[in-house]
Amino acid sequence: MIHTTDGFTANLFTPTEEHQMLREQVREFVNNEDMDKQAEEFDQKECLNMELFRKVGEEGWFGITIPEEDGGLGMDATAAVIIHHELSKSDPGFCLAYLAHAMLFVNNFYHSANRAQIEQYLAPTLDGTWVGAMAMTEPNHGTDVLGMTTTAVRDGDTYILNGTKTYITNGPEAHIFVIYAKTGGKISSFVVTRDHPGISTSHHIPKMGMRTSSMSEVIMENCVIPAENLLGEEGGGLTHMMRNLEIERLTLAAMSLGIADRCLDLMVQYGSERIAFGQPINRFGQIQRFIGEDYAILEAMRCLIYNEALNVNPDTNNRVGSDASKLFAAPMAKKIADDCMQVYGGAGYCREFPIERLLRDAKLLEIGGGTLESHQKNISKDLSKMFARQGTLTPSYMK
Ligand SMILES: Cc1cc2nc3c(=O)[nH]c(=O)nc-3n(C[C@H](O)[C@H](O)[C@H](O)COP(=O)(O)OP(=O)(O)OC[C@H]3O[C@@H](n4cnc5c(N)ncnc54)[C@H](O)[C@@H]3O)c2cc1C
Repeated sequence: MIHTTDGFTANLFTPTEEHQMLREQVREFVNNEDMDKQAEEFDQKECLNMELFRKVGEEGWFGITIPEEDGGLGMDATAAVIIHHELSKSDPGFCLAYLAHAMLFVNNFYHSANRAQIEQYLAPTLDGTWVGAMAMTEPNHGTDVLGMTTTAVRDGDTYILNGTKTYITNGPEAHIFVIYAKTGGKISSFVVTRDHPGISTSHHIPKMGMRTSSMSEVIMENCVIPAENLLGEEGGGLTHMMRNLEIERLTLAAMSLGIADRCLDLMVQYGSERIAFGQPINRFGQIQRFIGEDYAILEAMRCLIYNEALNVNPDTNNRVGSDASKLFAAPMAKKIADDCMQVYGGAGYCREFPIERLLRDAKLLEIGGGTLESHQKNISKDLSKMFARQGTLTPSYMK
């Protein structure tokens, strides 16, 4: 912890005054917009709160990682973590829609696009006029993403896309998509808008949790787009995908952290208020075990995620760190939400409190953006390579 003369305290979680201001702004937004209340309402309705989404656009947070000269806030992965962490304390589902737009579309598109593409498409996604989405998963190719069968065939000055993507967050509302498709056997990425002929989306696919965001199939039937809508080079899609998956997994881990933070608060509060056998339930050893162990786990999550955030940016390769963050945080958030429900007893199971929603939302983070099993596989592969190269896995900053 570093105390500066003007009273600002720099630490791992709030490295600069800009980060502190951002955290305060997001907290204020969450309070002013009464995000808990709208979460309850939109969870029942099972749709995205578009009015709130546009207000996030007015705050500029869709361009959190985009340089200021291109209309963004020019901040880093820590800033992105702060937004996902704070929003998810109230409404992880809405935060998932934010992630799909700001990380999966805006950040991904910006780092893969050329100047002309940025000038043509970026501005309406920064203010939320257009909702963005990213379409990678297919009905028969999820974890096995490299096996995707969507194709893009060059035809003169156009590409013709054919295939179906599924589980696409923001699909029903989206106007613009980053779409991955095979060109001659290699993965390429494209920017496609709803105005292009041959693209459509299915109805919203109902789901267990994260109900305050929507999800659909994206269907391309002889979808014709200009050849200049190819992002980067043919075959460059794999690099774009792998690069963006790092910030995606890190910010999904930050969502788990937000859920866990909120659940611990709820657990501690209820533990001191609920009376059983003539005393607050937090006097019972079994309740103390939930609170004590979950606090220790939560602090470990916090340190891991914010520490890894320092090493996630478009120019570095930190798949181990982002996968490890999500691999640890997702099941731990689910456990803490479940423990919270146990501490609340019957009340926790009822919709009067946000716990049952947070528990449903927490499960998704073990699946979306890569399953836990895919993280185990990636980490094991990357650590073997690292060990062969360095002869040790001790991080360089510990030497
Ligand atoms: C709410 C939600 C939102 C989503 N949003 C998006 C989005 O915006 N864009 C997008 O492109 N996708 C999105 N997805 C898709 C998501 O990324 C995939 O669901 C995920 O990658 C898993 O793919 P799958 O569902 O096909 O499962 P499968 O790949 O079929 O996996 C089924 C099971 O088999 C296991 N498995 C598979 N292969 C292996 C292996 N080699 N070794 C060990 N175990 C294995 C998996 O871990 C899992 O347990 C979303 C999904 C959900 C549920």
